[in-house]
Amino acid sequence: MKSLCRSTTSARRATTKSAASARKGGGARRSKLKGEAVAEIFRRFAVENPEPKGELESVNSYTLLVAVVLSAQATDAGVNKATRALFKIANTPEKMVSLGEAKLREMIKTIGLYRNKARNVILLSQMLIEAHGGKVPHDRDALEALPGVGRKTANVVLNVAFGEPTMAVDTHVFRVANRIGLSNGKTPLAVEEDLLGLIPPDAGVHAHHWLILHGRYVCKARRPECERCIIYDLCLFKGKTA
Ligand code: SF4
Repeated sequence: MKSLCRSTTSARRATTKSAASARKGGGARRSKLKGEAVAEIFRRFAVENPEPKGELESVNSYTLLVAVVLSAQATDAGVNKATRALFKIANTPEKMVSLGEAKLREMIKTIGLYRNKARNVILLSQMLIEAHGGKVPHDRDALEALPGVGRKTANVVLNVAFGEPTMAVDTHVFRVANRIGLSNGKTPLAVEEDLLGLIPPDAGVHAHHWLILHGRYVCKARRPECERCIIYDLCLFKGKTA
């Protein structure tokens, strides 16, 4: 999906809110890594993968929002399998509402929690039509007011659809940040605040995807593949495998 990045008042508000939140949470104070090491970690990620992309498929900001809502406690691959057909016939809130909850439920029944998710997708689509002219709002509070949309989903949409330097902390980001030493946060919000306070500004937009991809393919939950890790010498994890 093409980035819809535009600098607007709401964009500045969302970023300012994140930064303020990071400062409030203590930001870099929770990291055991020095600033130069953090910069070097993100420099290496950038060299290895200059334009990282998420793996959830979407065709516009609306389908991105729907895909992220559907992905809670489900794999990206599982969501993509169901949404390929769905987004061919329902790629706008209006078309989704016309499709209806029963047909939507049938189309996403392979995804966990599909009944609740179908209800939320129809409700959020109605809300987008009624309150936002059928558009996905570029505003954290408005996004989080949508049914089924929490902080993590709002962060993904702000990042991918609007180019905001937000940090959506999923299971991979949480694990990787704690292992490397970027954070010792015990909650997703604490880790998000630490990362927002640490990440160099020029890495802000891509940092979320770099950490997710690193966690998914290298720093895996059960056995991190430290022997092929490009930040091995900088990582502080005591359980390094090589
Ligand atoms: S060295 Fe191992 S534990 Fe540390 S980030 Fe790399 S894969 Fe993860």
